[in-house]
Amino acid sequence: MIRKISDIFKEKEKTLGFEFFPPKTPKGLLKLYETAHLLKDLQPDYCSVTYGAGGNTKDKTMEVVDELQKRFGLPVMHHLTCNRHSISEIKQILNRMQERNIRNVLALYGDLPQDESICLEDKKEIKYCYELCKILKSRGDYFCVAVAGFPYGHINSPDRDTDIEYLKIKLESGGDFVITQLFFDNAVYFEYIEKLRRAKIQTRVIPGILPIVNYEKMLKFCADCEVVVPKEVHEIFKPITQDEEATRKAGVDFAVKQCRELLNKGAPGLHFFTLNKADPVREIIIQLREDKS
Ligand SMILES: Cc1cc2nc3c(=O)[nH]c(=O)nc-3n(C[C@H](O)[C@H](O)[C@H](O)COP(=O)(O)OP(=O)(O)OC[C@H]3O[C@@H](n4cnc5c(N)ncnc54)[C@H](O)[C@@H]3O)c2cc1C
Repeated sequence: MIRKISDIFKEKEKTLGFEFFPPKTPKGLLKLYETAHLLKDLQPDYCSVTYGAGGNTKDKTMEVVDELQKRFGLPVMHHLTCNRHSISEIKQILNRMQERNIRNVLALYGDLPQDESICLEDKKEIKYCYELCKILKSRGDYFCVAVAGFPYGHINSPDRDTDIEYLKIKLESGGDFVITQLFFDNAVYFEYIEKLRRAKIQTRVIPGILPIVNYEKMLKFCADCEVVVPKEVHEIFKPITQDEEATRKAGVDFAVKQCRELLNKGAPGLHFFTLNKADPVREIIIQLREDKS
């Protein structure tokens, strides 16, 4: 039986998770399973697979989650967005998850692709992610539900305090823990945690970590979701933009420093946005584990 991530929390103070996206091609799929195989040696507590993010096909998510669970016996969290589905479609998806022993879901509203937004308006029965959390929890104890948190505030939120109020509603509606949007400035994460605690939110908030492998793509992504890129990051990565290997190495060094501080100051683990690449994450974890030995 696949475990719920919330049950793992009862035994472990800090967890390690790897996020993948479902590739579009059979070749990409093979590469993903190779990557997952390599990363499995690092003994993650769970993996996760995105759903329709960045234009990727959502139909593949369940297939990949199912396959990873079967191959590795690990809990694999199915990201699920509610902006493209009616309530009855969501219920059918949850039925299929239950048939496949998929017990962990990252509940999300989802990114709205501009070209689809008009037809989505007609379909939209679920307005916010907290409603999806409620549907998931209506299945009794079956699902462990993660939700997204935004240390800089969500791009469409009026302000950070209101954003925290909305997060609280998601958690009261069934969210068991939080995974954050990426950030490079740890002070922003710790300020966020302080604000959450003041708002009486005691839930685990696992930092989302992006190892930088491509400066330009990282800048674009951060601009799209209004994540601030600190001066230090520009200073390190801008001069080496064209040098793939130097960027990869600097990305590893930066992430090791960032993760070391997060863990030392009490973060309850790490959730890596792997971009389906094994090497940078492997190097980061190995270096972090050398700290302990
Ligand atoms: C770790 C992580 C993984 C992700 N994976 C994916 C993925 O696989 N696929 C994908 O498409 N996207 C993914 N995303 C992106 C996410 O779907 C978008 O950022 C989305 O715009 C917000 O989703 P949410 O679940 O936070 O939505 P919500 O909590 O519904 O928030 C959406 C907006 O509505 C507002 N809001 C929320 N609740 C209320 C309320 N009660 N009243 C009024 N306003 C409210 C919020 O302030 C926010 O502006 C991921 C994000 C993170 C951090």
